[in-house]
Amino acid sequence: MNPSINVEQLNSALTSLRTLRSSVSQVFEALSNGLRADHGEDGKEKFLLELQELLNNVNINLRDLEQTTNGLPIPTGSFNLGNTTYLSQETTQDRQALYTQLVNSYKWTDKVHEYSSFAHSILSQNSLRRSYANSGSTKRRGKLQSNHNVPPGQVDNVINTIDRSYTDMKITISRPYASNAVVQISLGHVLKAVVAFKGLLMEWVMVKGYGETLDLWNESRHNVFRKVTENAHAAMLHFYSPTLPELAVRSFMTWLHSYVNLFSEACKRCGCHLHHTSLLPPAWRDFRTLEPFHDECKQ
Ligand SMILES: [Zn+2]
Repeated sequence: MNPSINVEQLNSALTSLRTLRSSVSQVFEALSNGLRADHGEDGKEKFLLELQELLNNVNINLRDLEQTTNGLPIPTGSFNLGNTTYLSQETTQDRQALYTQLVNSYKWTDKVHEYSSFAHSILSQNSLRRSYANSGSTKRRGKLQSNHNVPPGQVDNVINTIDRSYTDMKITISRPYASNAVVQISLGHVLKAVVAFKGLLMEWVMVKGYGETLDLWNESRHNVFRKVTENAHAAMLHFYSPTLPELAVRSFMTWLHSYVNLFSEACKRCGCHLHHTSLLPPAWRDFRTLEPFHDECKQ
């Protein structure tokens, strides 16, 4: 074992931790019991005095714990396995597994140590907010805000800009559920899609055939559009970027727009329009090249 660890000190630290915990639970016990018969008259005052005393105890025990832990050395790195390495030379069959288990738990504690130091450095920067206020995108916009709580006007701007850049893709915005936008997309005479936003983050997408009625929750009755919906969900997650939400929306729309040739372009791998077993057109678009593939051909 690490020679710098004083077992007695560690033991007394653990004891004071236990004492602290038990005094805290006494507080909660007294609180949950509330006023009792033995408080008698002036019950309220006696109850408060009792509570105050218990809280005082907690304070004293907390100070004790702080003192004992302050004396403990901070582990600098990994722990040495020491004599336990001899376990690997164990000859009894049913004990041979011990060494592997020990090494595994050793690795595990090592990881806990590593992760907690990462967590500590992240938490101390206090940047664990979904808004990523310190990152690039907000700098561009010039003020701090979270991406799920942007003003509707800004969402409209982003979407309308995308809408204007396509002649064969029509995008309309509605707000049936208060401030969050639901966007309807009509792509050529090929398909329609509906995307639910939370601020500037895309949350849900449903793709249907050109002639079908569009809503958020009912799937298309055509197999091919159910496939496209499935792939659109994958795309939504692929392009998801809390730091650059506008780019995520634009990338997704570019990707969706590439379905304009859903029924006219052949699969880049097998060269067929309809796949030989599923008999579906290429319902997958590569995220980068936007080339069409059958789901079965995309690898
Ligand atoms: Zn194919």
